[in-house]
Amino acid sequence: MKRIGILGGGIAGLSAAWSLEKARRAGQEIEYRLYEAAGRLGGVIASETVDGCVVEAGPDSFLTEKAAAAQLCREIGLGDDLLGSNDAERKTYIVVGKRLIPLPDGLMFMVPTRLVPTALSPLFSLRTKLQMAREFLFPPQPATGDESVAEMTRRHFGQETVDRLVSPLLAGVYGGDADELSVRAVLARMAQMEQKHRSLTRAMLAARRQRGRSKTATPPLFTTLRGGMSQMVDAIAAQLPPEWVHLSTEVHAIDRVERARRAAQREPTGWVVETPFGPERFDALILALPAWGSASLLRPIDHPLAEALSGVPYSSSITVTLGYEIGRLLSLPSGFGFLVPATENHSLLACTFVHAKFAGRVPVGKGLLRCFLGGSRNDELLDQSDARLTVIVLKELEQILGLKAPPSFVRIHRSRQAMAQYGVGHLDRVQLIRDRIAELPGIALAGNAYQGIGVPDCIRTGQEAAASALRAGHVTAVAAGTR
Ligand SMILES: Cc1cc2nc3c(=O)[nH]c(=O)nc-3n(C[C@H](O)[C@H](O)[C@H](O)COP(=O)(O)OP(=O)(O)OC[C@H]3O[C@@H](n4cnc5c(N)ncnc54)[C@H](O)[C@@H]3O)c2cc1C
Repeated sequence: MKRIGILGGGIAGLSAAWSLEKARRAGQEIEYRLYEAAGRLGGVIASETVDGCVVEAGPDSFLTEKAAAAQLCREIGLGDDLLGSNDAERKTYIVVGKRLIPLPDGLMFMVPTRLVPTALSPLFSLRTKLQMAREFLFPPQPATGDESVAEMTRRHFGQETVDRLVSPLLAGVYGGDADELSVRAVLARMAQMEQKHRSLTRAMLAARRQRGRSKTATPPLFTTLRGGMSQMVDAIAAQLPPEWVHLSTEVHAIDRVERARRAAQREPTGWVVETPFGPERFDALILALPAWGSASLLRPIDHPLAEALSGVPYSSSITVTLGYEIGRLLSLPSGFGFLVPATENHSLLACTFVHAKFAGRVPVGKGLLRCFLGGSRNDELLDQSDARLTVIVLKELEQILGLKAPPSFVRIHRSRQAMAQYGVGHLDRVQLIRDRIAELPGIALAGNAYQGIGVPDCIRTGQEAAASALRAGHVTAVAAGTR
């Protein structure tokens, strides 16, 4: 019987556990155990219903085009609960001075693909608009190596595009800094487009023409689950043998069987996991932890690997969710919400109008605003009290939206060191990590530190780690674990 240990019960660890469970049901001779330090599964995914509204502590949806998440939901019986974003309402605003300026139609991330809306938009100065035209006609030289997203944007579209568009988008999505994030890791497609077409505008127009020719209907940009993202966590957990899932069980060390049993001169295969409840032995381990967590467990085993892992920076974030009677939100424009450039000197990074983004997650007659703070821009806010954060958010919502009405409820969630930041050179770091991991048979990594921070990417890494653990050799003649 092959034994596999999964460390971490976020979506990456759960996705690995579900893959192993499917293999077991298909007849493979395996046992697995999942260890989660917290008293609940899901990691940063946590949903609750307040006043009939679905309130999310972490992710509220996933990108539809990344198929792994919706596929997993269907497998675990949640197909009917998948809900697409209400794209007819999709409009995002940028705060500039005291105004909310809509992103011009046809903008694809930072690339304008429609002339008239961009030319007429007050979001950009004439100088930036001329630079956008120049990018199409006389594109800059492509980069020779990795660079920051801000550097690439600046070369193509100028500093104002960094300030008003790219920085707020990346702060909103990654809690990250455009001057730090790697274009090759975060916007791989753009980096490839630049190499091929030099002009990003030409490349995007070509991609749009291609899509226009395809006969399939455009799917909604985002997908979520009607009852909250935690549905996914609960549905996977319901499929796993409960006695194999150990909550409130932090793994504080791992070691090779070889080392643990050196005195007995045993075969050098397998791994020992140490928890407060004693050691347990496995053929393979899936470390579905933040990179800093994997680093501390792997440090005694492979120091350079631990150094590479601990070099992946993380940012923290705060969400402040406010419930309202919809009649009190009359000053809100239509759309999905707004982003706040750092140059505007607000604490808010972004705000989502949840009732507009998804139909059916907020009861008719109610409105829900989800505000984001923190990120790499403002980490010290994490230590502010809930009362202080509420005051900050309400004051800024009044300044930005003219919203004076008090909310009927407030929920505040802090996610500490939860969002991996892919800095310039991230892909080289990941390659180094891969090379070193290949020297540790039976160890696989999963989670948001490597190949994408979104929920679908984490699910995919969990599946790949499970496949790798299933391929690993297994410990011979070793007794089952102690628990
Ligand atoms: C506020 C926020 C909003 C987001 N919004 C979106 C979004 O809208 N769409 C999207 O696609 N993505 C979003 N993301 C990103 C995405 O949710 C995360 O990248 C993903 O959920 C991370 O999953 P994970 O399993 O890798 O890590 P985690 O969820 O961090 O899980 C890791 C788990 O490991 C456990 N652990 C740590 N150390 C140990 C140990 N020694 N022993 C045992 N257990 C341990 C932790 O307790 C934790 O439960 C968001 C993230 C945040 C924080």
